[in-house]
Amino acid sequence: MAAALAELLALAGPVATPRALGLLELEADRQFHHIAAGDRHRLVDAALEEGASAARTIRRTFGLACPDDIAGRLGIEVKTIHGEGGFGTVAVFADHVLRPASVRLYAPALAALDACLDVYPDRDGLGATGTRPVFLAHELFHHLEGLRPAHALAARHRVALFAIGPLTLTAGLSSLAEIAAGAFAQQLLGLRYHPKLLDVMALFGHDVTAAQRLVERLCAARPTGP
Ligand SMILES: [Zn+2]
Repeated sequence: MAAALAELLALAGPVATPRALGLLELEADRQFHHIAAGDRHRLVDAALEEGASAARTIRRTFGLACPDDIAGRLGIEVKTIHGEGGFGTVAVFADHVLRPASVRLYAPALAALDACLDVYPDRDGLGATGTRPVFLAHELFHHLEGLRPAHALAARHRVALFAIGPLTLTAGLSSLAEIAAGAFAQQLLGLRYHPKLLDVMALFGHDVTAAQRLVERLCAARPTGP
């Protein structure tokens, strides 16, 4: 089992650029089929930069503080939940509530993921802490974005669904915030990989075929750029 996962991650590692992982996230967006093919890389790059830029701002403000300390200084309560947050086969690692500001981290799901870290490429510096700071940082981005809803990526990047006369119905791209939240965590924690790569491990525990498909799509995409 561990050998098969290690083999899969060894295939994924060399092609797992932030843009390639971001594109996988974008492809899962409910509105993906409304996005012009020529816009995809631009949207992913914009989301990656938004997340990285927000992390740089946090670092300038709070120095080298860890995500728990940053959460405390932002007035966000961090709760560890010793139960499952997902339904069925969908594992939830963390979620957040804007008011009162809190992040919930689901300990059993995180522990299951951490148990696989030995086969994650280089453990990506997560050996001592496990994946908890990654998911906390991810939720911190959602919190920061929630404070400025008009500036949120989904509000600024919309796709046209259809037009009736002069009226055009549009929808926001919710995947962009996920791409940005991952980039925020990557930049804040100095990770080699965008944390979307953790999905391979998370999926593997529930659905080996789905994990294999994810890596196949990653290998097939081979995008250029960062
Ligand atoms: Zn998220």
